[in-house]
Amino acid sequence: MVEASEEVYSSLQRRFKGDLLRPGESGYEDARIIWNGMVARRPGLIARCADVVDVQNAVRAGSEIGILAAVRCGGHSLSGFSTCDGGIVIDLSRMRQVTVDPEACHAMIAGGCLLGSIDTATQKAGLVFPSGVVSHTGASGLILG
Ligand SMILES: Cc1cc2nc3c(=O)[nH]c(=O)nc-3n(C[C@H](O)[C@H](O)[C@H](O)COP(=O)(O)OP(=O)(O)OC[C@H]3O[C@@H](n4cnc5c(N)ncnc54)[C@H](O)[C@@H]3O)c2cc1C
Repeated sequence: MVEASEEVYSSLQRRFKGDLLRPGESGYEDARIIWNGMVARRPGLIARCADVVDVQNAVRAGSEIGILAAVRCGGHSLSGFSTCDGGIVIDLSRMRQVTVDPEACHAMIAGGCLLGSIDTATQKAGLVFPSGVVSHTGASGLILG
């Protein structure tokens, strides 16, 4: 698994715009933590994507190399589905943009949005996103069930 995560790292290194964090590197220990502290896994690589192209590249590299992968939005999965041991975590925490169209009563949210950032943007337009009350829950994880 260590070789596989190094292979994914090498494949992404030159084209990735976000952060690539490996064990022992600065920021890795904080980035690997999810809400349920009892699930203390150690991914071989955390790919913190800057945009959709980064996500596409991470998914392609992971599937071509055949490594275990987990996607993370708010990290609230109690069972720890948004992390893994040895594999790659595709971390969407830098992708929190919300665009509201008040006329159409629509909001477009990026894949890493938390409920709090959506509430802040939609309430300014007099709209509401009916969801949970804990602001740091991920919208994607909640919507996908
Ligand atoms: C403190 C707390 C409060 C909560 N409050 C509420 C509440 O008020 N109402 C409610 O309905 N639920 C609530 N929940 C449950 C919560 O909605 C679910 O656990 C939800 O799945 C968390 O989503 P997340 O993005 O934070 O978690 P994550 O762990 O990041 O993701 C959960 C799952 O979705 C997948 N996933 C996440 N984002 C994506 C994406 N963009 N593309 C593909 N897969 C993705 C992950 O891989 C994982 O399998 C709460 C949970 C906690 C711990």
